[in-house]
Amino acid sequence: MPLTVVDHPLAQTLLTRLRDQSTPPSVFRTLTKRLTAVLMLEATEDLPTAAHRVQTPLEPAEGRVLPVGLVAIPILRAGLGMLEAVTDLFPAVSVGYIGLERDEDTLQPSEYYEKLPPVAGTEVILLDPMLATGGSAVRACQSIKAKGPAGLRMVCIVAAPEGVKAMDEAHPDVQVYGAALDRQLNDRGYILPGIGDFGDRLYGTFP
Ligand code: URA
Repeated sequence: MPLTVVDHPLAQTLLTRLRDQSTPPSVFRTLTKRLTAVLMLEATEDLPTAAHRVQTPLEPAEGRVLPVGLVAIPILRAGLGMLEAVTDLFPAVSVGYIGLERDEDTLQPSEYYEKLPPVAGTEVILLDPMLATGGSAVRACQSIKAKGPAGLRMVCIVAAPEGVKAMDEAHPDVQVYGAALDRQLNDRGYILPGIGDFGDRLYGTFP
């Protein structure tokens, strides 16, 4: 199963407030950050760690460190709302950006920006809140994989069955973590019941 739904009560209550159309952008941004932090704990649970000895004030202690670099890649622009949670949790993370937009007629993604740090040998976390058709996520994973990461996982807020299927077919090795698997897409590619246009709700750019 390529999607792990994080069913933690905190994740579900935060998601409910994000769905609520009366939540204003200022609160929406805070809720997105808090929910992403919860999802990130689950999504990074199996990151490789290596033994590391430190000296406490009393005696040596065996601990763990992350032996490989971590790279977070938000898909512009909605993925930006999830980024600060990742940089807060993992301050040493490197950040890259992929800009993909949907052609509203064909619903196909077209790439208008890509700026990535060195990705080879790192653990990459792709951030995009709405896994809708899956077109953007599939395309972004292709670009990232071409650069040879050690691992690639994706964190979204809500997934649609169509997006999960597309990811499962194109990238069955990429585990996706999210707070909900919703019912379906509408004819404009929006997730139902969904959250609405995530970028608009984050940044107050309502049509
Ligand atoms: N992108 C969004 O912002 N919302 C959706 O429902 C689908 C794609």
